[in-house]
Amino acid sequence: MTTTSATRVTVDCPAWCNVTQAQHLRELRWEGNTTHWSDSRSGDGWEIRHTATATADGSPSGPARLYVSTPGGLTLASAEALALTLLATYEEASD
Ligand SMILES: [Zn+2]
Repeated sequence: MTTTSATRVTVDCPAWCNVTQAQHLRELRWEGNTTHWSDSRSGDGWEIRHTATATADGSPSGPARLYVSTPGGLTLASAEALALTLLATYEEASD
């Protein structure tokens, strides 16, 4: 009987990351770093997500980024909701 043991890297994700370990490991293998992606937060006419990139040892490999998408115009109520959610997302991303 042959036993194989492989050293397996585990990516430590922030609590908000929704990326699978398999995808992180693929990115590390092919790109040398990986990106943690948050779930999207969305409202009427807008969507926000944020990211953080890391190397295999967990060190940050770039600045955290927020992605804001507003494909159409916003009503004032939507703009207010976007502003409040953007602030909450900023606070989560900067933890
Ligand atoms: Zn992650």
